Amino acid sequence: MALTFKDGVPENVHPLNVVKRMKGDLVENEMNSTSDTEEIPVGRPPLFEVYMRMAEELAKRSTCARLQVGTVITDSRLEHVVAIGYNGNARGFPNRCDSDQAGKCGCIHSEMNALVKSPGHLRDKVAFITASPCTMCAKLIIQANISHVFFRELYRDSTGVAILESAGVVAVHYTRWMDAWR
Ligand SMILES: [Zn+2]
Ligand SMILES: [Zn+2]
Repeated sequence: MALTFKDGVPENVHPLNVVKRMKGDLVENEMNSTSDTEEIPVGRPPLFEVYMRMAEELAKRSTCARLQVGTVITDSRLEHVVAIGYNGNARGFPNRCDSDQAGKCGCIHSEMNALVKSPGHLRDKVAFITASPCTMCAKLIIQANISHVFFRELYRDSTGVAILESAGVVAVHYTRWMDAWR
């Protein structure tokens, strides 16, 4: 049994990305494969990459002076965006940080902004975030029934990623296609 990853990223073990096949099976766009590691050609942007780019666009709306972050949350089938977020102050508050002190800017984190609008009853949601989450956002992600997290940049403190993984949430540093199809 060989595993093939539709987007060519072996770390992306989301069920929609993994194709199981027996040796010798014909795969779309591919002649008979003799190797377990042979890849299916990726001819168009994978949905995972498309949602990550939506998160990048959302990040541009952030008014935080320290770091701009965007988040997209989808259902388990990647068919519906169920919530979006970027970091900034609360509704009706000034569109700037409360303070320029490190760690005290007062902005609501991008993930938190998405999670408060995200339906809790939907299981195995997928999150796309432009930066890996902090420890508290990681715990909220676990609590919100998100099963897979894709992030573009690894935040300087990777504790959040370790927390996700300790709870069985798959965290994928997703960069393979960031420069393609531009
Ligand atoms: Zn801020
Ligand atoms: Zn956070």
